[in-house]
Amino acid sequence: MKCLFCNGEMEKASVSYTVDRNGYHLFIEKIPGYVCSQCGERYFEEKEVEAIQNMIKALEEKLKDVLVAA
Ligand SMILES: [Zn+2]
Repeated sequence: MKCLFCNGEMEKASVSYTVDRNGYHLFIEKIPGYVCSQCGERYFEEKEVEAIQNMIKALEEKLKDVLVAA
């Protein structure tokens, strides 16, 4: 697989992902993905992207009851 940005070689790696939102910061380690050996760009496959998005959606739903209302 080639990098979309620099055309470098993408290598399979365990990638970390951070979400910074107002009220919480999420740091997930060890998501299977790809990293460009040239520019360091990260890439996740659709399955992982979907899983992360579902998790954030569920998390925000739960956090509504916990966080101070803006
Ligand atoms: Zn690259």
